[in-house]
Amino acid sequence: MATPRYKRVLLKLSGEVLMGGQQFGIDPSFVAELAKEVKAAKDTGLEVCLVIGGGNIFRGMAGAAQGMDRAQADYMGMLATVMNALAMQSALEQLGVQTRVQSAIEMDQVCEPVIRRRAERHLEKGRVVIFAAGVGAPYFTTDSGAALRAAEMKCDALFKGTSVDGVYDSDPKKNPDAKRFDTVTYDKVLADNLKVMDASAVALCRDNGIPIVVFSIREQGNLAKVLKGEGVQTIVQ
Ligand code: UDP
Repeated sequence: MATPRYKRVLLKLSGEVLMGGQQFGIDPSFVAELAKEVKAAKDTGLEVCLVIGGGNIFRGMAGAAQGMDRAQADYMGMLATVMNALAMQSALEQLGVQTRVQSAIEMDQVCEPVIRRRAERHLEKGRVVIFAAGVGAPYFTTDSGAALRAAEMKCDALFKGTSVDGVYDSDPKKNPDAKRFDTVTYDKVLADNLKVMDASAVALCRDNGIPIVVFSIREQGNLAKVLKGEGVQTIVQ
């Protein structure tokens, strides 16, 4: 039997994918669809860590642009990621998938704090661990949170599900001749400022040898395909 490609992965979803067709917030029916994709991935025997952004609810930069204190606005953004994590937890548990949410900002009544050893145990028991509140500090993003948790949990790869099917040399929504890379180096992503994840997240993955797989989560069944190394994707390595 062929050796499975990955044993433990971290899946990062931007908050926007939880909106489904809406302009804002959480569409529970769409979250339920995403949860099915995550369950299918887990059912192949993978250990799955999840990080979900908060951009569908609040982004610190947007608040700061309207005159708010940046750090304060970032804390609001982090709280938004906890709401998304709880929505995903609920959807996964409705499918019978055991999950735990661990937040980088402690809120004992709602979820666990981030404790690496406890997270390890959850994964061993077949639970999906959803890491919320990014790195727990303002001026960061959930991309950095995802890279940090992927390193901490020794994940084999970081899967970034977006609305685009990979990394392009220019914006495919603006340039019809934009070319998608099958693979691209971390250094090229950083030097050319290619839109993958923010620079600190890419650098953290580079320094810890964690490949970043960028793929479209909008297409049904795509997550299972890219986990098998099939389907359209770009690997940053
Ligand atoms: N955020 C933060 N520190 C972190 C993670 C997130 O301050 O470690 C805040 C920041 O304001 C950010 C918001 O939370 O804009 C939502 O996260 P993000 O923008 O990464 O969400 P996504 O774009 O993935 O939906």
